[in-house]
Amino acid sequence: PVLLEMRAITKEFPGVKALSDVNLVVRRGEIHAIAGENGAGKSTLMKVLSGVYPYGSYSGEIRYHGSESRFSDIRASEQAGIVIIHQELALVPGMSITENIFLGNEPRRGGAIDWKSANRQALELMARVGLREDPDTLIKDIGVGKQQLVEIAKAFAKDVKLLILDEPTAALNESDSQHLLDLLRGFKQRGITSIIISHKLNEIAEVADSITILRDGKTIETLDIKADGVDEDRIVRGMVGRELHSR
Ligand code: ADP
Ligand code: MG
Ligand code: MG
Repeated sequence: PVLLEMRAITKEFPGVKALSDVNLVVRRGEIHAIAGENGAGKSTLMKVLSGVYPYGSYSGEIRYHGSESRFSDIRASEQAGIVIIHQELALVPGMSITENIFLGNEPRRGGAIDWKSANRQALELMARVGLREDPDTLIKDIGVGKQQLVEIAKAFAKDVKLLILDEPTAALNESDSQHLLDLLRGFKQRGITSIIISHKLNEIAEVADSITILRDGKTIETLDIKADGVDEDRIVRGMVGRELHSR
């Protein structure tokens, strides 16, 4: 069953056509990779999906859970369970893990923020991502791997159904990357659909069920990795366009 369909998405910036008639179909419960060279339009496509670029600023159609979705902003897409973690993490370095997880969304009691409850909930969310730290630790005092986990815990605080990770392992070392990929597989077991932007073929092979390849703002093709395996040559040719492919 299909969870998400983006049809004929076209998005222009002044002087740049970032996306032209891009299509993306994501099945419920899968891990879907999006690959493409720098500038291919991967981040822009996910920003369209998550309401960073609202309805009206692009053309084409987004169908989510079978109905047309016109997100007016990031909050609207988050209310639908779509949470994006951007390449540049959106954490406040001088604030604690708990404060970052709930930023702007803190549990309240009698009108005031209930920090005791926030810390307790933060610990539960941190356990779900395998992050063992004191929740009062400041973001600037933990490494990028753990910061990425805080972002994912934050996504769970928002009740995520479709988790979008934009090049999540780009700045991570081998063991932090492995932990993250293991987590994605665990989330899948629990019914969470993920989209992972990556150009690392080894990690695509390891976690992805399907892959959509973008080049120069266009969809090249979608491959079913689960069924057909990873054809590395084909993926690379799709990304760099050294050979043309029939669809
Ligand atoms: P990718 O994530 O695949 O590296 P992007 O989606 O970031 O690619 O960018 C696609 C194209 O759109 C690039 O040519 C990029 O320079 C351009 N672009 C992206 N964001 C903006 C923006 N806010 N303003 C102008 N051009 C942009
Ligand atoms: Mg880029
Ligand atoms: Mg990008």
